[in-house]
Amino acid sequence: MSRMFVPGPVDVADEVLAAQTKPMVPHRNKDFEAIFRSCDERLRQVFFTERPVIISTSSGSGLQEAGVRNFANETVLSCVNGAFAKRWYDVAVSNGKLTDKLDVPWGETIHPDQLAAALKQKKYEVVTIVHNETSTGAVNPVKELAQVVHQVSPDTLILVDAVSSLAGDKIEFDAWGLDFLLTSSQKCFALPPGLAFGAASERAMKKAETVKFRGWYFDLLLLEKHRVKDSTPMTPGMSLIWALDVQLDRMLAEGLENRFARHAAMAKTTQDWCIAHGMQPLAAEGFRSHTVSTVQNSRGMDITALNAFLKTKSMRIANGYGDLKDKTFRIAHMGEITLADVEKLLAAMDEYLKTM
Ligand SMILES: *Cc1c(COP(=O)(O)O)cnc(C)c1O
Repeated sequence: MSRMFVPGPVDVADEVLAAQTKPMVPHRNKDFEAIFRSCDERLRQVFFTERPVIISTSSGSGLQEAGVRNFANETVLSCVNGAFAKRWYDVAVSNGKLTDKLDVPWGETIHPDQLAAALKQKKYEVVTIVHNETSTGAVNPVKELAQVVHQVSPDTLILVDAVSSLAGDKIEFDAWGLDFLLTSSQKCFALPPGLAFGAASERAMKKAETVKFRGWYFDLLLLEKHRVKDSTPMTPGMSLIWALDVQLDRMLAEGLENRFARHAAMAKTTQDWCIAHGMQPLAAEGFRSHTVSTVQNSRGMDITALNAFLKTKSMRIANGYGDLKDKTFRIAHMGEITLADVEKLLAAMDEYLKTM
């Protein structure tokens, strides 16, 4: 069996791939509506929320766009500590929002005091935060950041991208007081790419009513109007929803806590191995991702050659992202990957290091 230790798209179980071959049905139809409703109900468990979870036929970036279009008329503060956080900033700017950046060096995380200071200086309608920065393997302390927003600027809505962590790490939408939480299908959910899931708070949906030019495709009020009828305004990506239906059952059969523990164990094993071999994770201790380890390539491995070697064993890892290419490498341990898979990879990397 081949294994891709890359942060999306990840390996999909055969059973889930096969579910996509189920025949199409009319989407304004009871059979479809029942499955669509049941997916929403099970997604709420994964999001730790009693709010509905919107299923969007788009990738996660589509819901980044939905976030800024629906919840801000003008002002956005983007917390930027890596490539995907920077993308959300770019998305906000390109949608015409007056967007400021709270910048920290890549690999670092946003400190609650920094966010508090920025919110005291200026009023923002929304703040955007990436939970698990896939480029750097650093995890922002979203729970603490949300607390600070509630204290310092209670009207500011808290928008969180958990594309590479939700369903692999525990993120509690209701308990943490978040306003919008989005993720994609092709990372920790271990589904094919093409779906995105998002929960919005009641107060955020109220705010959306006052926001002009929300667009059509990602108008969350329009999506909600149809969701209450277990439907979508446009034709949904039906084959992907058949796959989601099967995968949610598999995830809940594993048990969410077991799933989170599996990801934590894989991260610890990977990061301990790297440290023992003289290569430090980029993020500081306490802020290291459970789903993707970004590690400094201090031994000067040729990542292309390493991947060619791993390919002979039907495995591959990811190079660093953007400017971090070759300076870091990334081992994703998410979705269907098991601790046994990680151990097999690390044994192969051991073998590779000996040939250097
Ligand atoms: C992959 C990723 C994205 C982009 O998601 P798409 O589904 O490719 O649009 C956004 N944010 C983070 C943190 C990611 O890892």
